[in-house]
Amino acid sequence: MRVLNYIRGEFVDPKSDFWMDNFSPSSGEVIGSIPLSGEGDVDNAVMAAVEALPYWSSLRPLERAEWLERIADCLESKFEEIARLESLDTGKPISLSRSVDAKRSVSNFRFFSGMIRDLEEEVFEMEDATNIVKLKPVGVGALITPWNLPLYLLSWKVAPAIGMGNTVVCKPSELTPLTADLLMKVIEEVGLPRGVVNLVHGDGMAGSSLTSHPLVDLVSFTGGTETGSKVALSASPKFKKLSLELGGKNASIVFSDCDMEKTVEGVTRSAFLNQGQVCLCGSRILVEESIYDDFVELFVDSVESMVIGDPMDDSTELGALISKEHLKKVEYYISLAKEEGGQILTGGTPCVPKGLSNGNWMAPTVIAGLDHNSRCSTEEIFGPVVTIHRFKSEDQAIKIANNTRYGLAGSIWTGDLEKGERVASMIHTGMIWVNTWLHRDLRAPFGGVKDSGVGREGGRWSLGFFSEPLNVCLKND
Ligand code: NAD
Repeated sequence: MRVLNYIRGEFVDPKSDFWMDNFSPSSGEVIGSIPLSGEGDVDNAVMAAVEALPYWSSLRPLERAEWLERIADCLESKFEEIARLESLDTGKPISLSRSVDAKRSVSNFRFFSGMIRDLEEEVFEMEDATNIVKLKPVGVGALITPWNLPLYLLSWKVAPAIGMGNTVVCKPSELTPLTADLLMKVIEEVGLPRGVVNLVHGDGMAGSSLTSHPLVDLVSFTGGTETGSKVALSASPKFKKLSLELGGKNASIVFSDCDMEKTVEGVTRSAFLNQGQVCLCGSRILVEESIYDDFVELFVDSVESMVIGDPMDDSTELGALISKEHLKKVEYYISLAKEEGGQILTGGTPCVPKGLSNGNWMAPTVIAGLDHNSRCSTEEIFGPVVTIHRFKSEDQAIKIANNTRYGLAGSIWTGDLEKGERVASMIHTGMIWVNTWLHRDLRAPFGGVKDSGVGREGGRWSLGFFSEPLNVCLKND
């Protein structure tokens, strides 16, 4: 399947005619090719967005909300196709592609359509004047996304960005181009004005040409922390508006008063959903000393019961890792854990489903006995590998949870909600769940602190990021 760039409402080849292969993570086969776009393609896409801006930004919010609704309807009609393409491209189980990726991609457009429809101007009255706050578009947005939740994250950016009157150039991950291509087909099918949404495929070269382009006004980036820091550098000379959603090393804190059954289930899901390749995954499990042995036994049983298999099989719970390179990284951390004195309780070796020996497979891996300062316990692995640690007191749990450069998310498991809330407020992170995980209300802020990013998206935070407030002060007399 060969995908093309989408610029000014047309699917076009890259100017250079350079292409790269797209591999299936589960079988290792080449499933298509994508343009390796260069500066010229990026410039063409940015110019298309610049040209479309005056008309698009002049529409009333209600009109733009209706466009978002049309995109949501069209995406919904292709629900199964989205799920299948996402599983083919990422190696994730089809059940997950349906329940998370396809579902959220549709609801992102519907949700922001509703928010934009309900948007009201803020007013601040003075004795002798009235201040009105108008939310104006920022301009041309660069939207850059990773491979783990391709359309879920792209739609999370495109919907509020165009909904607030900006025009955009998207640069999806080179490893997962298929559903971004499908979104462009949807955009063409609904007849969105040309140039409002453009897309260039390619690797980091295309990404950096885009973030440094002088006519790009805003950058919304989701990806790794090291890349995020390069993006911040390239956006800084022109003071571009910047949102960075980066890596994480999230703690799951299990207190002795938790509901053991629900906690084991929740912590397993949070550790291994999408093969542990979700930025919010709980990859450090901290367990109160008094229940440590019981918890570990049940947790390992639960992990071992997960079904690893062909992503297209309805019963599969764990699929393949995204690439050979990523598998090598995960294997490196497993061998490092052994060097650091860790004990592999389960997993640690590839677990290859029948007929898929060229894919990127790793059994879900649980490692105990590591110091909580060790590299495996503090660095982001982003795969099906968790470390498990004991703690004796609330204070110690908080200290261990905060012992990382990251601050994205976390979860706390306890029968005492007051304690849950108290501990949550002491964890230096952007989001934390108590007795649940990845339970998202789209109105709530999403984002991290420390090396996990800058800024928040979600609900009114997205609308704020994708707009510039203009204060109009009207003197009364
Ligand atoms: P990555 O940083 O390698 O790539 C992300 C995107 O940036 C890709 O589209 C890539 O082509 C592009 N890119 C690469 N170099 C660039 C450059 N110099 N300038 C501009 N763009 C460039 O990340 P990845 O491996 O695709 O994704 C995994 C990472 O993403 C993990 O660290 C994970 O935690 C993080 N992530 C964070 C969130 C969040 O919301 N915080 C969500 C999902 C994933």
